[in-house]
Amino acid sequence: MSTRIYLDWNATAPVCAEAHAAVTAALGLLGNPSSVHGEGRAVRKCLEEARAVVADLVGAEPRNVIFTSGGTEANVLALGPWLDAGGKAPDRLLMSAVEHPSVRSGHRFAASLVEDLPVDSNGVVDLSVLAARLDELSGRSLRPLVSIMHANNETGVIQPIVAAADIVHGAGGLLHVDAVQSVGRVSCKINELSADFLTLSGHKLGAPTGVGALVTRNDALHLPDAVIKGGGQERGRRAGTENVLGIIGFGAAAAALGEASGGDVIRLRDRLEAGLRDVTRDTVVFGQGAERVPNTTLFAVPDIKAETALIALDLAGMAVSSGAACSSGKVAPSHVLAAMGVPPRLAQGAIRVSLGPTTEAAEIDFFLKAWRKVVMRLSKGRSGLAA
Ligand code: PLP
Repeated sequence: MSTRIYLDWNATAPVCAEAHAAVTAALGLLGNPSSVHGEGRAVRKCLEEARAVVADLVGAEPRNVIFTSGGTEANVLALGPWLDAGGKAPDRLLMSAVEHPSVRSGHRFAASLVEDLPVDSNGVVDLSVLAARLDELSGRSLRPLVSIMHANNETGVIQPIVAAADIVHGAGGLLHVDAVQSVGRVSCKINELSADFLTLSGHKLGAPTGVGALVTRNDALHLPDAVIKGGGQERGRRAGTENVLGIIGFGAAAAALGEASGGDVIRLRDRLEAGLRDVTRDTVVFGQGAERVPNTTLFAVPDIKAETALIALDLAGMAVSSGAACSSGKVAPSHVLAAMGVPPRLAQGAIRVSLGPTTEAAEIDFFLKAWRKVVMRLSKGRSGLAA
């Protein structure tokens, strides 16, 4: 066991050995993948091999994989004026209240055309509200684009995508699914989910940062206006010389994933959650009443602030994160927990522990030991502490 313990896989997974080796080897490649000479063609071949592997990971056709700079850019690209053959561009964007900020910003939809879908206390989207709203829109001949994430980055809660897709397609709409936190953790095939678009991010599954993909289910879907315009790369849907090293790393990481079974990780997460309750009986695990990806626990203990606890845990050698967005290094209130109706006082204590396939039981035990000390220190004299 290393001296630092990394339990923040939902933020970024460690680069896996396969991606590391593939990227290192690719540093020796010469040539632009758009060049017609032999060097260029050799690089192109590597890109297309990676595209085929990423496509296979989600059961899509390679030509329907658009490489991007990550999940954020894939979400930006998705939330635009898609058309199907002879169809009509979406007039409204509906999204769950717990989407990642890169979806929440709505992109090419005017703010007045964006609507929220509420979630229940576990963070699961309310499908009856979706159905009623889409019914109303289709009565006015308005076409919706709906964006619902597969698994939530904070809680790990899995959304009922197949049922949502039924409702969306029944109303003539399109469904975008942000699968950044689910791919590789649970089965995530575009056709089985009935999603029209899937967002993927390489660095959540063992590739380097800075690469992702938007995957479309259907050849007949056209994005009339690319976000990044210029050259004809990615069949005109995303200009700019491709991130060759990142894409090769993405392909290698995707190939290394295999079938997501999650069994070992679930056992470790159960050990973690039982251990947390052992430390203090008033531990709250968010989203516990819903199906979750196997690797994620978001929890809080009343009156313990995440910001303080994270610093103490970091000093003790542990990398975990607050449930809330902290992309600027500051812990902000979580819109996910707010949407779930969690009182702000409890939400400010939310700590996310996210595991990966190489996480060991000894690391969980070490974390629990450190957590016990932190709780003892930060909650002197309170009841609820187990002996
Ligand atoms: N969507 C979800 C659910 C995420 O968790 C993240 C990253 O945390 C993103 C999108 C953005 O991905 P990227 O960091 O590749 O831009």
